Amino acid sequence: MYNARAYSAAGPAAPLAGATIPRRDPMDHDVQIEILFCGICHSDLHSVRNEWSEFTATVYPIVPGHEIAGRVTNAGSAVTKFKPGDLAAVGCLVDSDRTCPRCQAGLENFCPNLTLTFNSPDKYLGGVTYGGYSESIVVDERFALRVPPNLALAGTAPLLCAGITTYSPMRRNAVGKGKKVGIVGLGGLGHMGVKFARAMGAHVVVFTTSPHKKEDALRVGADEVVVSRNADEMKKRVNSFDFILDCVSADHDINAYLTLLGMNGNLTIVGAPAKPLSVYAFALIFGNRSFSGSNIGGLPETQEMLDFCGAHNITADVEVIAIQQVNEAYERLLKSDVKYRFSIDMASLKS
Ligand code: NAP
Ligand code: ZN
Repeated sequence: MYNARAYSAAGPAAPLAGATIPRRDPMDHDVQIEILFCGICHSDLHSVRNEWSEFTATVYPIVPGHEIAGRVTNAGSAVTKFKPGDLAAVGCLVDSDRTCPRCQAGLENFCPNLTLTFNSPDKYLGGVTYGGYSESIVVDERFALRVPPNLALAGTAPLLCAGITTYSPMRRNAVGKGKKVGIVGLGGLGHMGVKFARAMGAHVVVFTTSPHKKEDALRVGADEVVVSRNADEMKKRVNSFDFILDCVSADHDINAYLTLLGMNGNLTIVGAPAKPLSVYAFALIFGNRSFSGSNIGGLPETQEMLDFCGAHNITADVEVIAIQQVNEAYERLLKSDVKYRFSIDMASLKS
């Protein structure tokens, strides 16, 4: 075991502050990664503030962060995928039982015994796992991803959650040429959704509550932008979408989007507001529409997504910040004021 510098929160109302956390010494199949960048996901904020307590209560102190990109500094004797000096990335999972049917199918994200990157029971050290707001992390190589060398690392880190969470449901719903796709909420997830839908060849419509984001939405790849508070603009698009991805972090009217779906259209929700949403049955009944959810993605698909990003030169649009700015960044995230992901330059942890 060794000590690593990190940023943690002591309680739901406490600010994040410098701390020291234990990490395990690398075992035979482990890689030790120096974390260079870590994205700030809205899930970090939900967890730090214990907003999902009914689903999963936060254990304090919490070290959040599951959008990790860095460099391998140490590889165990049985490691085959990496050598010291290689780039590597870690997302929302650091372990699973590896034997259940879901793990065997590459769907480790649905393993009943999965270990999340933070706030999950730590099989090795006891207590809970600590995430990426830290100078280093140790994981089994199965849970570390290869990073395409052409991608800038600060914008690559957010792919590990915002990227895979939007890529996976689009693949499952055959997003591509000839499909009309809606993306609700232009935040970290939403802007990645726009980039993927565009790269897959779909016609992309962004729904935003922030009129000032219109130009950015077009720049990242939208064909049309609708300010969702404009009832006339919404009405014009009723019954017209094949697929809609809802990336909103707060309470909102889901029926306004369900009615935009055409026959057999699907709305997949990835945003995880704390409060339950109310669904109007007729919004689904008319048109055989469906409403589903999606949870990040398994490791093979996460690697596929990174390789897709390498081939299409896709990274997140990031505002790079120092770790000392993290509390201010959380307040801005709550105001939907980030273009479009904060990425923490972890070198700042040393200053
Ligand atoms: P984010 O960057 O804060 O983006 C959320 C966006 O939602 C905002 O930019 C805003 O877009 C819109 N929004 C915020 N408040 C709203 C309100 N009151 N009404 C309507 N729209 C509102 O957050 P994120 O990191 O992309 O995460 C989004 C959600 O996905 C979070 O709940 C997060 O926990 C969840 N998540 C789920 C998974 C999964 O596996 N399912 C993975 C990662 C994250 P506009 O300004 O354009 O309206
Ligand atoms: Zn996330």
